[in-house]
Amino acid sequence: MKKHLRLILEVLLGICLVATATLAYLNYSAKKHLAAEVAELTEQLDEAKESLEQAEEEKPADEEKAAPEVSNTSSQELDALKAAFSTGVVLQDVETLYKAQKALSAERQVGLASLRLLTKGAQDESTVAAFQKALEMAEWSNRLQTVCAAQNALAAAGQKVKVLSDCKKSSDKEEPAEKEKEDHGKKDDKSHAVHWGYEGDNGPEHWGDNFPVCGKGKKQSPLNIVGPFEKSKETLTVDYKEGPLKIVNNGHTIQVNVEPGSTLTIGKESFDLLQFHFHRPSEEQVDGKNAAMVAHFVHKSKEGKLAVIGVMLNEGKDSAAIKTLWANLPPKEMEEYLPAKVTFNPGSMLPKELAFYNYEGSLTTPPCTEGVQFYILKSPMELSKQQVAKFPFKLNARPVQSLNGRKISAGG
Ligand SMILES: [Zn+2]
Repeated sequence: MKKHLRLILEVLLGICLVATATLAYLNYSAKKHLAAEVAELTEQLDEAKESLEQAEEEKPADEEKAAPEVSNTSSQELDALKAAFSTGVVLQDVETLYKAQKALSAERQVGLASLRLLTKGAQDESTVAAFQKALEMAEWSNRLQTVCAAQNALAAAGQKVKVLSDCKKSSDKEEPAEKEKEDHGKKDDKSHAVHWGYEGDNGPEHWGDNFPVCGKGKKQSPLNIVGPFEKSKETLTVDYKEGPLKIVNNGHTIQVNVEPGSTLTIGKESFDLLQFHFHRPSEEQVDGKNAAMVAHFVHKSKEGKLAVIGVMLNEGKDSAAIKTLWANLPPKEMEEYLPAKVTFNPGSMLPKELAFYNYEGSLTTPPCTEGVQFYILKSPMELSKQQVAKFPFKLNARPVQSLNGRKISAGG
């Protein structure tokens, strides 16, 4: 019982954080009272969780005895929380808030589902449906704990829910060990997040089945870059810093995570470099032609805007930068690898000239979120044939998408 309670508390805490973040993000002034309400609940939950943890720590040998007492106080707090939500006002508010949007992000979907859980209880069918939808919307590898908590809470309440295989093993705190890869190939296994890939039933033409924007979006990436081009007045200023190499094989690409401090400035707007990764062949085409590979540098502004610099990589001479990266490929999938004493400067991957083609597009992987500015550099870089062959993914490029009236500009 105590375990279940704890899970429910964790779920509640998760929801409140999601809700608070969402409200803050929307800066929805009319709903300020709701933000305050949620903030307060978050605090209460935090306290409840703390008291649970404290009790656990204090009486590890006497768990059986301690449990009922803890459950009682926490139950009361939980009841108080449920009562606050049971009026349905909070759920209604959030539903109204979200109705204006065409498609919810996975985070908001899970927030909505969780609010339903609070308001309508776990026996409510639409609560379960909402959770399932949230689960199907995204790869939850980095939020495994929250998802497991939600699923286990529903399961504990007697609901038939799909429980991720990783959640079944243990509901206690653990590193979100990622065993997804083992499940690859088992097409009938639906007990985990939706898979996507580049070939067959999981290929790009099927992404839209589970990620609507991938199928229906009108500003999707990548593009075939052909003129005539509008003239762009923007200039790119890149200030990348050397830092410890952090490299990960996320099952779809090799990605290098970058420590804060490397920036891209477009006009007066500053973006932080988050990570860069590779596609083979290049996703973008120039005049209908792919390069052997492309490197995408993903940046985010303080306001959450995304800007991607694409560097086309042609087959040619050895790249010293790639040599360092490929010499340090992660031994394990899904785990960030930090080889000792290896540093890397992302700037070593860029050409001197930063002239570019610019267009508005999307993430080129599910959920294909739009509103991403792409700057594909006109100057390519080179890597050797052997280096192309050493990249662990033979094909991880989404085909070019329809322009749908978008303008491509050239500048720099
Ligand atoms: Zn990419």
